[in-house]
Amino acid sequence: MACIKGFDITAPVLLEDIPREGLDLYYDDVASVLRESGLPDGQESISGEAHLSRSAGTVHLKGRVDGRLVLLCDRCLERYPLDVSHSFSYLLMPSGAQRFKPELSLSEEDVDTTFYDDDVMPLQSIFREQILLEIPIRGVCSSGCKGLCPGCGENLNTSSCRCASGEASGPFSVLKGLLD
Ligand SMILES: [Zn+2]
Ligand SMILES: [Zn+2]
Repeated sequence: MACIKGFDITAPVLLEDIPREGLDLYYDDVASVLRESGLPDGQESISGEAHLSRSAGTVHLKGRVDGRLVLLCDRCLERYPLDVSHSFSYLLMPSGAQRFKPELSLSEEDVDTTFYDDDVMPLQSIFREQILLEIPIRGVCSSGCKGLCPGCGENLNTSSCRCASGEASGPFSVLKGLLD
């Protein structure tokens, strides 16, 4: 089994790069695949593994992602960490083979099938999809997060609502509160 540690997720892996006995790839950081996904920048740290084996043009991928994402809380808009640890399995086929659905054994029913062009394994898009799958649609920093007051905009986890006090709200109200 060929094995490469510290591999770069942006380096292309071609069908011909996968030897008959298989190929193990270890990535120190696959977070670059999340660029332009709307997540806070430069805050993610996620390692990845890709174990590739093939028969003719059909490639079997077993992969894994491990690490931590930094997300924005849906209620209070503060950053919070989300641990990611997740295994996945794919069957990769040449795009010309779309019409021929491979016969899968029962144990492989939950394997995703995807297609590749020009003998390039779509590892970046697979890692991206698998990491984004881990992100909740309405994620919160904690189940008890109180969010922002819709009136004064205060983060109710760290300060109290100023609406009832009659003080003017605005960008300087927080600063004023600190000086008082
Ligand atoms: Zn929150
Ligand atoms: Zn308020």
